[in-house]
Order: sequence, then C-alpha cells, then structure tokens
Amino acid sequence: MLAEIKGINEECGVFGIWGHEKAAELTYYGLHSMQHRGQEGAGVVVSDGKNLKAHKEMGLVNDVFKHADFSALSGSVAVGHVRYSTQGGKVLENVQPLLFRSQTESMALAHNGNIMNAYKLRGELEAEGSILQTSSDSEVLAHLIKRSGNKITEETISKALNQVVGAYAYIILKEDKMFVALDPTGIRPLSIGRLGDAYVVASETCAFGQIGATFEREVLPGELITISNDGLSSIRFAMRQQRKMCAMEYVYLSRPDSDVNHVNVHASRKNMGMELAKESPVEADIVVGVPDSSISAAIGYAEESGLPYEMGIIKNRYVGRTFIQPSQELREQGVKMKLSPVRSIIEGKRVIMIDDSIVRGTTSKRIVQMLKQAGAKEVHVRIASPSIQNPCYYGIDMSTRAELIAANHSVPEISNIIGADSVAYLSEAGLEKAVLKDKTIHQGICTACMTGKYPVKEEGEKEIAYTSC
Ligand code: AMP
Repeated sequence: MLAEIKGINEECGVFGIWGHEKAAELTYYGLHSMQHRGQEGAGVVVSDGKNLKAHKEMGLVNDVFKHADFSALSGSVAVGHVRYSTQGGKVLENVQPLLFRSQTESMALAHNGNIMNAYKLRGELEAEGSILQTSSDSEVLAHLIKRSGNKITEETISKALNQVVGAYAYIILKEDKMFVALDPTGIRPLSIGRLGDAYVVASETCAFGQIGATFEREVLPGELITISNDGLSSIRFAMRQQRKMCAMEYVYLSRPDSDVNHVNVHASRKNMGMELAKESPVEADIVVGVPDSSISAAIGYAEESGLPYEMGIIKNRYVGRTFIQPSQELREQGVKMKLSPVRSIIEGKRVIMIDDSIVRGTTSKRIVQMLKQAGAKEVHVRIASPSIQNPCYYGIDMSTRAELIAANHSVPEISNIIGADSVAYLSEAGLEKAVLKDKTIHQGICTACMTGKYPVKEEGEKEIAYTSC
C-alpha cells in the first residue's frame, strides 16, 4: 500500500538554454509562458562558463524578474524554474533552481515531479552527516550526485538517478555542462528545442513558441542528455519503461498551445469533449465551458452534440488560481471573485456546464449555484475526465483521499452535493481515445488519480515526505 501524502504536492515548470548571449532574458520569457505551472516563486541560475549566478524570489515571474539585474546575470547558459505550492513548504529556500557551491564544481538543479522515496533517502543522507538546506524533495538528488563521486558527470548523475523513485524532469547545470533527465516512465513532460545554434529545454513546448525556438524532440523516458560546447549527447541511465504521460497534463495542467508527447493539448481536450458528448448526451439549450481550462472540451462537446456553444461564464483574469488558496473558505471566496455568469445568455436556458475535472467539488458547486442564480432552468454538469479518486504521488496537486469528493461519494451524491440536475464523467476509455490517437507514438497515459493504476510504486513511504515540485 502506498501511504497517503498530504496535499503539499506541487506542479512546477523547468526551462534551460545553452549557447545564447541573452540566456537570462530568454529564461524570463520561457518561464513567463509557463507561469500557469507555478505561481509561488521563480528563479534563474546563469553560467558564464566559470561561475554560476542566481536570482530567485517568491512571487510571479514578472515580479521576480523585475528585481533582476540582467547585467549581473551575464552568460550564455541558464536554467530556470517556476514553482507551485498549495500549503506548506512556501518559503524562499524551496524556490528553485537550487544552487550548491563547492570548491571543485558548483551545481544548479531544477526539478518538476515528485521523488517518492525522498523521506527514506533524506534519512540515510542525514545519518551519514549531510545537512540539507531545504524541505524540498528535489535537493536529495544533488547530495546523491556528490556522494556518487566528487565530480558531476554522466556517471555520477546516472548513479544518483538510479537511487530515486518517482516522477521527475530534471535540469542540472554546472559551470560548463548542462544535464537533462527524465524518469524511466516519462510521467512528466520535457522537450528539447533549438533557437539558432542554441539548445532549449522546457517542460512545455509553449515556451519554445514564446522565444521563437522550434521543437526538436521529446526527452525520452530514462534518458540523460548532456549539452556542452561539444553539442548534445545522450545515454540511457535506466531501462526505458512504456511511457505513461500524466493524464492531468492534458486534462488541466498544460497550456492549450503546448504539444505534450506529440499531442496538442487543445486538440486532446476538444476530443475529450466530443467523447463526453457521445457517452453522456443530455437534452439542453446551450453548452458552457468553465474558463479557461474547460473551453476546449466545451467546444468539442458543442460540436459533437450540435448544440450552440455560449460564453455563459466570464473569468476575471486578474485573480489567481482558486486552488492555490490554502483554506476551503478562501478557495470558495476565490471562485466568487474569479467567475461571473452572463445572465442574458443563461436565463431560462437548460445549460450543459463543462468542466475539465472535479477535485474537491468547490468549483463545480459554486458555478452550478451561480448559473441557477442567473436564471438557468437546468444545469447538467459534464466532466471531461474520469472522476479523481486517488492521490497523486508524481507531482500533481491532488490532495488527500479524504478531500477528494469522488473518493467519498457516488455520482448521484455528487450531483446532489453540487446542486446539479445531472452529473456525468468521461470514461477511462473515452479519455484514452481522446489522447492516444496513435498508440505506437503515444504508448499510454498515467491515470493513477482516476483509476488507481499506479505505474511507479514505492512501498512503505512515510506520510508527508517532503514538499515536491
Ligand atoms: P475543486 O474546486 O477542488 O473541485 O477543483 C476543481 C477545479 O480545479 C477544476 O475545475 C480544475 O480546473 C482545477 N484543477 C484540477 N486539478 C487541479 C490541480 N491539480 N491543481 C490545481 N487545480 C486543479
């Protein structure tokens, strides 16, 4: 049995660039395009070939970089990070890239994912005299690398990676080399791009578009890439497993213009909406999507059902994600501030409300209420993913089973709780059909939070290990 990790997981974004004179500035733009992956803090570490220089702060990318002195961040190589947090671990020390100085070589480290055996590894490291600087699980890797030999090489990194279990996309920078690694199951997204002669690495391909870079290829599961002035080389540090890209990247997390493992996120969401319309049709007048993450699915549902798609809900763009509020009361207030109904569209209508997912049920309940107050005759909730019943151990904030509404209630009960006239979820088969258009390329997706099928297991981990990214 996997022990349950409390709701402190984070979803982060990593960015790296090799061989561009404006490395720090481009990192700023790249991170800005991945702001949705993390709003707690951001940072950059630049190398000029001799020294590593860091700038990181709590806050949004714009605010963090407003205070950056770009002339002091000179160098043609950089690694950057955006960090997301729900509760706990919200301190500057956990903002990445983490930087480790040493007499021989320094190392910066940026991570997206979750190290499942971090608690055990930290215990072992501490017992052997290591003093860790953060409460982040990401830091463990740096210590393991250093203990695998006093050099930062493909060999020492491979040895270290083989000791960690979980989901991870890592960028590791030393003065004259950048290393890029993806876990053997490839749960988190990570791609390589080119900008002229420069190499670019990013969690999401939207970052390439932002800086004018072109997509080159996906980093493969179990692959360790080295980038230096000699170019790019690659080894396998572990046996490649069948890839299981995180389904929530498609459902909710990634930007619609990103391609995740060769599948465009908007297109996959639209397909989810279409499958949902085939599986769970209902008589109604209009289809409304909850902005922004459900718009693509709502368009697909409307197209497939032949019903008009309407802008029935408007989002205030200047309110942060509701999910990041630490208490239930604040989250509910957050939903109220964020979304408003368009009464003239809604009044007297039978509305199909499409949302991408239900986690705790806060958002759906509030929106159903809002639509009814705006005069909707009926509200039928259609969710463009299977119900979320299990915690995620791979770095997506899914909270504990106790808080997951679908782990504790049947679909009719959920419908009752959120005040809807009906509720239906997309099936697992429908989700796979929507995402995995070509199984030879796309292999599979991780649906553990929906189905309980965990592709990577780690027995006996302690509750609340460390805050992940
Ligand atoms: P809830 O109100 O707790 O049911 O949250 C559901 C809403 O949060 C959905 O409408 C999604 O758009 C969004 N969401 C789903 N998964 C996540 C996640 N892992 N992190 C942040 N927000 C999420």
